[in-house]
This record gives sequence, structure tokens and C-alpha cells, in this order.
Amino acid sequence: MDGKLQKKGITMAEKTGQKRNTGKCRYAEQCGGCTYQGVHYKEQLQKKQKYIEELLKDFGHVEPILGMAHPECYRNKVHHGFTKDRSGNIISGPYEAGSHWIIDVKHCGIEDKKCQEVAETVRRLCRKLKVPVYNEKTGNGVMRRVLVRRGFATGEVMVVLVVGSPKFSAKRKFAAELAARHPEIVTIISNLNDKHTSMILGDREEVLLGDGYIHDILCGKTFRISSKSFYQVNPVQTEVLYRTALDFAGLTGKETVIDAYCGIGTIGICAADAARSVISVELNPDAVRDAKANAAANHINNMRFFTADAGEYMKQLAAQGQRADVVFMDPPRSGSTIRFMRAAMRLGPRNIVYISCGPESLAGNLKFFRENGYEVCKIQPVDMFPFTRHVETVCLLSKLSEAKHSIDVKLDMDELDVTTADK
Ligand code: SAH
Repeated sequence: MDGKLQKKGITMAEKTGQKRNTGKCRYAEQCGGCTYQGVHYKEQLQKKQKYIEELLKDFGHVEPILGMAHPECYRNKVHHGFTKDRSGNIISGPYEAGSHWIIDVKHCGIEDKKCQEVAETVRRLCRKLKVPVYNEKTGNGVMRRVLVRRGFATGEVMVVLVVGSPKFSAKRKFAAELAARHPEIVTIISNLNDKHTSMILGDREEVLLGDGYIHDILCGKTFRISSKSFYQVNPVQTEVLYRTALDFAGLTGKETVIDAYCGIGTIGICAADAARSVISVELNPDAVRDAKANAAANHINNMRFFTADAGEYMKQLAAQGQRADVVFMDPPRSGSTIRFMRAAMRLGPRNIVYISCGPESLAGNLKFFRENGYEVCKIQPVDMFPFTRHVETVCLLSKLSEAKHSIDVKLDMDELDVTTADK
């Protein structure tokens, strides 16, 4: 991204921040999702900037954070649980932070309005069609959660009805009534999760309507997204993020590129036209299936996809003597592993573009890269999650010319591993 766009990002945010007075959400204390409710958007950006500057000051200059012009209703995904109140009425809403309590939220300021409407219709249909609500304690009942996702560019909506029991006899009628009320819904899935777990989705799924996925468009490319695949929650800022990452990569059309932790293939697919070839790796098989379909749908022929632990896969590539010019890495919040980083450096990339939603783990990983022959050249925070305390950061690491020897030596050392969890 050029300097102009970067400047525009913060100026626009500042301008809107000055105009808007963000009234505090009435559910803020209980919900806990938004740390910065009631804080001016401009101030939120300043706080995030300061946080990243303090955390990463040893690595170099931090560019001004790229904020949103309209930081509301940006989340393309709604996840609500169901329960009953004391009078037996069905209530639905997000879970109170760090607990299993469901809060009866009538309106959320950061979630997409259409997704909220659809979730509300699901609640009403439970009452109308007498679908019993699942009880987390006893394991009785059926309707447990709903997950609604919307492609902002296509308008397509996906609904995942998470049931705690396979006895969802009204499922066909439920799906038909829901689709009749919201023509934007292109797919409805029934997902069985009868485990005592905080995981949202279970393993078994039945598609009740459509193909089991929706589409969205990012950076001019079309992406299909299925229920279990990761997809960035703020598509407006995802484009800003990806453009920054691509700009940092400095592709000329000649490079061998790796897209690690690739999800549904988005970064690699956006980079493919500017590269010689792209190798993408991801742990979740559903996401890899989406990624392959996405490459084909965008007529991209220079990509290969692998379902594997990224660290393990990179190690194999390194052992085979594979080289890479650019590595994109976008690990979960907990960061990457020593195994991954060692192997990545052994492929000899001139540039590593690190996209992180976990600043603390990023700081630790940057330190490791720096100790092993890479320097941090650029640091760009992006506000992907307004009103929350989370910050996304893109970093460019470049290989120091004399680094090769030290990298080869260190690779033979024992490998420590850090566990990964989903973003
Ligand atoms: N780059 C993608 C996805 C980023 S989210 C995007 O921008 O949308 C991180 C991804 O890493 C998720 O898809 C998750 O399934 C995957 N992941 C988590 N642990 C992994 C591991 N050990 N190896 C490979 N992929 C992993």
C-alpha cells in the first residue's frame, strides 16, 4: 500500500471519530466483548497505537494504525446461544465473556444488522415450531446455538443451527420457514454439537438448504466459505490488511511464495497473479477444500494446497531443499512455533510477511526471527476489531545478507514447540 492510502486510513478515522460521540452500549459491562465501549473512536485508535508502539518499540518504527471510516456493524458473523429466562421465554444472545451465561442482547453495535435479524428470526421460530431449547446442564433439548454469516459483497447469508441432540424433527420445516422470511439466506446447515464443550461447532453436519457455503468478494477475488472454515470477521478492513501484506511482499511475478495458515486461501489467491507460484498450507481440511475451489473459481493455476500442520509441512519442505522467495504467515492468536520459524528461514525467503492478531505472541516470534538473521523492516497495525481491545499487525521481515550461515547452524538444534489455538 502506498503512503497516501495509509495516511488516508488514519485521517478518515480521525475525522469520523471527531464527529461521532460513541454512546456506551447498555450491555457493555455484562457482555465484555467490547473493552472500548463509550470511548471515542479516535481515542481507541490512539490507545491501540500506543499499545503496539510500547510492545514492539525494540523492533522499529510503528506506522500509524489504519482505522475504519465507519467503525460500526462491521462484523460479518453473529454467534448466539439459546436459553430460557425465569418465565420460560426463549432468549438468545452472545455469551457473557468467559462464561456460559447467555445475555439477552436486543441490539449489538458491532455486528451486522442482517445477521442479527436472522438470529432473531431463529429464536422466534423456535417458539413457533416448538423446538425445545438445549439445556447445557442437563443435556436435554435441541436448539443450542446459531451462527449466521453474511458475505458483505454478495449479500449471501449462511445459517448454522447448532443442535445439542439429533432429534431435530422440525428441521425441514424450520429451514423452509427461515428461508421464506429471509430471501438472502442461500444455505442452512444443521450442526450436531452434543458435547460439553466451548467449541461452537460439532463434527456432524447436515445441509438443509443450498450447498453448505456462501460467497464473498475480497480484493476482486471470489471466495466460498463453508461453516467450519475461518474467515476474517471484518471484510472492509481485511482488504486493507491484505493490501498492506501484498505491498510489503514486493512481488514482481517471479517469486515462489508460501501462504502459511492459509484458511480458505485468501492471501495466496490475492498474491497469485503477482507471483510465479504459491504453495498454501492449512490444518483444517474443510478450509483447504474451500481454498482449492476458490483457486479454481478465480482461474488461478499456479497454486498448490496442502492440509497439514504448518510447522510440520515447512519442515518437510526445508528437508527436501525447497526454496521460497516470500513467506506469508498468518498464525492463530497464540503465534507460530519454533519449528515453523526455523523451517521458514531455512527456505531462504528474502521477505517474510507476518500477519498477526496476537501482538504479544508476535513480539516473541519477531524476537526469534531477529536473533536468527532477519530484521523487522515495517510494522503496520490495522484496526480489524473496533471497540474491542484486539489489534491486528502486519510486519515485514527481511533477510540480512550475512544470515544464511547462522540460520543453517541453528536449524540443527532441538526444537521447542508452542501449541496453537484458533483465532
Ligand atoms: N490467512 C487466513 C486464515 C488466518 S486464521 C485468512 O486471512 O483468512 C489462522 C488459520 O490457521 C486458521 O484457518 C486455522 O485453521 C489455521 N491453523 C491453526 N493452527 C494451524 C497449524 N498448526 N497449521 C496450519 N494451520 C493452522
